[in-house]
Amino acid sequence: MIELKNVSYHYTDGTKALNDVSLAITPGRKIAVLGNNGAGKSTLFLHMNGLLQPAEGQLLFNGTPVAYKRRQLQELRRAVGIVFQHPDTQLFSPTVREDVLYGPNNLGWSQARAEQAALEAMEKTGVLEFQYKPPHFLSLGQKKRAAIASVVAMQPKLLILDEPTAGLDPYYARKIMQLLNELHNEETTVMLSTHDVNFAYEWADEILILQSGGVRAFAGAEELFHDQ
Ligand code: ADP
Ligand code: ADP
Repeated sequence: MIELKNVSYHYTDGTKALNDVSLAITPGRKIAVLGNNGAGKSTLFLHMNGLLQPAEGQLLFNGTPVAYKRRQLQELRRAVGIVFQHPDTQLFSPTVREDVLYGPNNLGWSQARAEQAALEAMEKTGVLEFQYKPPHFLSLGQKKRAAIASVVAMQPKLLILDEPTAGLDPYYARKIMQLLNELHNEETTVMLSTHDVNFAYEWADEILILQSGGVRAFAGAEELFHDQ
């Protein structure tokens, strides 16, 4: 579905963030991305839905090289949803409900379809009860769920989450993980970054380890931890 071929990227200040990354995402998997701060996890995610464009190499979407033209980017961004680490960057409307409706409305769906998708996303993520609240009134755990709802409402095939449990106490962290397990299915790939190696081992089908912008390993959890 999504494939990177020899992708390199450097920020405008010259920082090399990705270095010759090649990988393919298999639909329906649960993928954990491990790596130190600065290893390139966020930069990789931003490439996967076209928010960043490789300096070198290629992104393939359903087998076709992405040309970074409007229509194809729209399709890519619909298929690949990113939940950023800090929900405040994702929630900007007067109410949670409007934030969750924003994506579906942007996709040009009919009002009825957009509302249905938003409703389903809010039900699944448990934010229905505070849908009329301003996001900034919510707890961090609630904000995280609202941010997830706003992405899930677009029904992405690949749901990417940048450290979804960072900053949450164990109670909320567990709730978020339960939610992600509910959202994951044969048609929805879930990919997340984490610093918790044990969690990655327990949860993921595949683990991607990034180091200094390069792929150190990408394999099944068993394979990764038993063959060394
Ligand atoms: P991670 O998500 O694994 O912490 P990032 O993808 O955020 O890693 O960062 C990869 C590298 O790119 C790091 O060296 C980081 O300092 C640098 N970097 C990230 N964002 C920017 C930016 N906007 N401008 C310059 N350098 C950046
Ligand atoms: P929220 O809707 O704020 O995400 P939940 O509905 O998940 O909260 O939580 C149900 C109840 O659990 C809350 O009313 C709260 O009293 C309690 N609760 C919330 N956070 C914690 C926590 N960290 N540890 C124990 N109990 C908690």
